[in-house]
Amino acid sequence: MFLAELRTSVTELKGVGPSIAKAYASLGIYSYKDLLAHIPRTYEDRQHPVTLAQLHREPCSAYVIVEVIAHEYIGHGSKRTLKVIVSDETAVASLLCFGRNFLERMLTVGRHFHLYGTFSRHFGELQCSTFEVEPRHQAAEPKQFGLLLPVYGLASGLTQKTLRRDITHVLEQSCPYLEEELPEELISRHRLLSYPTALQQIHFPSDFAQMHLALKTLSYTELFYLQTAMLRRAAVRREQKRSAHLSRAVNDHTSFSEPDTLAGRLVSSLPFSLTADQETVLAEIEQDLSQPYPMNRLLQGDVGSGKTLTGFISILPIIESGGQAAFMAPTELLAKQHAESAARFLEPLGVRIALLTGSVSARQRKLLIAALASGELDLVIGTHALFSDDVRFRDLRYVIIDEQQRFGVAQRISLMQKGISPHQLLMTATPIPRTMALTVFGDLDISTIRTMPPGRMPVITHLASEKSRDRVYHAVRVEFERGHQAYFVYPRIEASTDSELRDAQSMYEYLRTQQYPDRKGGLIHSRISEDEKISIMHQFRDGALDYLVSTSVVEVGVDVANATCMIIEHAERFGLSALHQLRGRVGRDAHQSYAFLIYSNELQEDGKKRLKVMKESHDGFVIAEQDLLIRGPGELSGKRQSGYLALMFADIIRDLALMKSAREDARMILDTDQSLLKAEYAPIRALLTRCPPFDDGFIE
Ligand code: ADP
Ligand code: MG
Repeated sequence: MFLAELRTSVTELKGVGPSIAKAYASLGIYSYKDLLAHIPRTYEDRQHPVTLAQLHREPCSAYVIVEVIAHEYIGHGSKRTLKVIVSDETAVASLLCFGRNFLERMLTVGRHFHLYGTFSRHFGELQCSTFEVEPRHQAAEPKQFGLLLPVYGLASGLTQKTLRRDITHVLEQSCPYLEEELPEELISRHRLLSYPTALQQIHFPSDFAQMHLALKTLSYTELFYLQTAMLRRAAVRREQKRSAHLSRAVNDHTSFSEPDTLAGRLVSSLPFSLTADQETVLAEIEQDLSQPYPMNRLLQGDVGSGKTLTGFISILPIIESGGQAAFMAPTELLAKQHAESAARFLEPLGVRIALLTGSVSARQRKLLIAALASGELDLVIGTHALFSDDVRFRDLRYVIIDEQQRFGVAQRISLMQKGISPHQLLMTATPIPRTMALTVFGDLDISTIRTMPPGRMPVITHLASEKSRDRVYHAVRVEFERGHQAYFVYPRIEASTDSELRDAQSMYEYLRTQQYPDRKGGLIHSRISEDEKISIMHQFRDGALDYLVSTSVVEVGVDVANATCMIIEHAERFGLSALHQLRGRVGRDAHQSYAFLIYSNELQEDGKKRLKVMKESHDGFVIAEQDLLIRGPGELSGKRQSGYLALMFADIIRDLALMKSAREDARMILDTDQSLLKAEYAPIRALLTRCPPFDDGFIE
């Protein structure tokens, strides 16, 4: 039996009734497996007793062995509190038994006890008011001392005692039946514990070394299967689709650099040359297109690094050989913008392009859909409207998804299914940290554009406290005078009584009437209709508006080269990646651009550290990694990670090195031991159900 198969309900445990079961459920614990996976938050070190005289730095928690010397009382009547004087020959301490006067009978004078408690000094007296004791017997070993005691994360209705009791029971009942999860070879190579021992030791370790080894064993095992599942999924996907793909009449293989191809013609007609990174990415895609299975590639690069153009070029061989392509964007605004650049770049080559969004009229839509189905269109650019059932293609062979993280898996699948295993290129300006990429996107090939097209100056970033906001307004005024434009971003749309935060609506009024009465501004946020948004954006782009006040809706993709200022208020409220995205709205041309991050006067050290990262780095990847690091893995294992994958033991930051060796091992083992490929192998099965079905919902 494997850990994943311990599905017995916690209610089977003696002492677990409905109320405790409910408390467990609030922690996500339902089964024996869940209990074992609830590993301690920390441990009380009760291994070796120290002496009272050794307690110099208080408050401190310590294990001591003491003899009861005397009883005293403080206070009178019903409020009197027992004070037990204890000693261990090095020093004397007082145990304050608030509400626990009954201890008088147990803590009798002359007896010796093991004691674990938190000590502090008051008026020169060493005192302890929270403690646990166990009588000392010469003949027998203590039960709760001489060990590391687990301390668990709790929910209301649960105590440490309950958890220790229940986990002990589960370990006793299950460990004898638990099988080894890893091949023997890996256990010995990495000097790991046997799996059941690791589970024992993570909960009730013999010492810290064993505890660390247990954690390594559990994490490594989990990562190994995660990587195995990923590699395996990729292998099966390739196998399955190879046949469908091979039967296709036309070969998509082509070289982007050959001058007489569509791609070659586009590249040579550009007023600039491609960056080295763009060329590398195209070479990678070229390689993919020549394989007998479909491409599944993620293209990441900062806003403005030239992803969209690269994507357009990569489509051309498909179109040249008679196939169709779909380009999907998360918002109407972006889809429109992409359609405009497609028209500029691709129409001169004879590519037939259409834009399909929710606001296309019914009549137009009908014509458009018919043209797609008959093959009169080569490329359709659109929003969610593309998923619609009645949208059919004659031969959809290539799908590009911009800002892929904004789409659900099901949505991507529904588009992919409109073709016969089409190539897929996902694009994102929110880089996936390497750690994350290895964990979750193990079966996806990744291309990266790191360098910006030449001639762009890095955005100068200023951190400004609330107090110096007037200087910010002044700096913006200077930019207006130079004929440039600005964005103002706020965390909320309108004023609210329960919040001090500045909001877009009120600040728009303020800027319009107080700061820049002689300038024209626009207000844009999620409650404004798409039509109006687009019209405001167009005015801004055409220079009819000097500034745009918004919530973070401008975050994705808009491209206005003349805008040189990005002012973000309450910057500490935004994630670093979001700030980086917002900052990417400016600095899109040869003008020097500026970002002003205004933070609250009460900002804490940690928050300042985060904003400093923004000032010092312009590299989206560095920023994403820092964001993870500063937030810490704690948050990661909760909210942040939940969208991707819930790991039981491993931590993708702490265990990066382990993950790399797990990946290599998985590769090697898969080459030699095909039995691991079996989907019914329980550790794999358990993981597959938790892995995001990333590309095509493939879980068999
Ligand atoms: P992204 O999709 O990564 O945000 P785009 O492809 O939209 O970036 O490119 C941003 C701008 O830079 C566009 O105006 C595009 O025409 C231009 N551009 C793209 N590649 C280059 C290049 N190699 N040299 C100069 N300008 C480029
Ligand atoms: Mg883009």
